[in-house]
Amino acid sequence: MMAIRGGMSIHLASVTKSFGTHKALNNVSLTIEGGMFFVVLGPSGCGKSTLLRAIAGLEPIDRGEITLDGEPVAGNGLHMPPEQRQVGVVFQSYALWPHMNVAANVAFPLESAGKKRSAVSARVAECLETVALTPFVKRKPAELSGGQRQRVALARCLAQGAGTVLMDEPLANLDPHLRSAMEEELAAFHSASGATTLFITHDQREAMALADKVAVMWDGEILQVDDPDTLYRRPMSKRVAGFIGRSTLVPVTVVRVEGDEADVRLGGVTLEVACPRETVPGPATLLLRPEHLVLATGSHGFAATVQQTIYRGGYWEVFVRVAGIEQDLMMVLPRKAEPGETLRLAILRGWVLPE
Ligand code: ADP
Ligand code: MG
Repeated sequence: MMAIRGGMSIHLASVTKSFGTHKALNNVSLTIEGGMFFVVLGPSGCGKSTLLRAIAGLEPIDRGEITLDGEPVAGNGLHMPPEQRQVGVVFQSYALWPHMNVAANVAFPLESAGKKRSAVSARVAECLETVALTPFVKRKPAELSGGQRQRVALARCLAQGAGTVLMDEPLANLDPHLRSAMEEELAAFHSASGATTLFITHDQREAMALADKVAVMWDGEILQVDDPDTLYRRPMSKRVAGFIGRSTLVPVTVVRVEGDEADVRLGGVTLEVACPRETVPGPATLLLRPEHLVLATGSHGFAATVQQTIYRGGYWEVFVRVAGIEQDLMMVLPRKAEPGETLRLAILRGWVLPE
């Protein structure tokens, strides 16, 4: 057995895994630094669970290599079994023993590993304290809420002392208010423990809230890895732009580029926008987020006709039509606007997508 190590780095080099002819992982390369909260975000079926299972050792890989803290664990004929990899896994379904109380569920893996009873109960108490379940130690899983059960599963993972934790959509079954509470707890736990956390989700809001870094996954491939704000502001493909946040993509013509700024022609107006440095003049796609569209003052701006409004609690989402632009643009207003109403708008920034 390896000694217990905390917060391992995880590295995948050109990892491929097929089921029949389908490549669930297609040449995936990824580096996750030790201690990082790393989120893999992608739609259902894109290969997220396969990626997690490959790292945990639950799924052998076909090609490529996986290393933990530089030590090879999979690839080139090697497949280190899961129990030797020193990573904890938390699944979407909590997999608790129904006949055991909370403390016994958390203690179970430690007792199975032959740890001393006194050491086990101290460790269990500590981990249940971390997830704020101390008052519930005597309850059975059936007497707990979904959020509490998920916290038992988390405590059980912590109790094993894994400094590297893999979580497969652990909040997907929870009510929205419980999810927010659990997100806060996960963030607090992560900063307190320094564990390397690989967290998988299809929920971009969750990814934005938790991640140091997000890898956007699509059809077995990693499209982009960046911190949440860069991913939101500077997506490098239409697919990533469409998957992260609300957006409208409009065709424009780039007429001038200077560093990471460009002038683009959209309908009859010229706009100053942000762009990747390698942008060249010519046809391009402009990403407009709701916050890029604002009400213009005085006689400035251009006319837009309100098509539809949706109340979102404290603000309205407003879809507007502008002459010369095919799609409706989405913006956010602090007041209700009536369909047919004319607004004068200005576009503040925007992001030219690389072709
Ligand atoms: P995700 O977790 O992103 O929803 P998965 O990693 O579970 O995606 O699955 C990726 C693809 O691989 C899917 O098309 C799925 O049907 C397929 N797949 C996953 N596991 C198996 C398996 N054991 N046998 C056959 N196909 C599988
Ligand atoms: Mg999955």
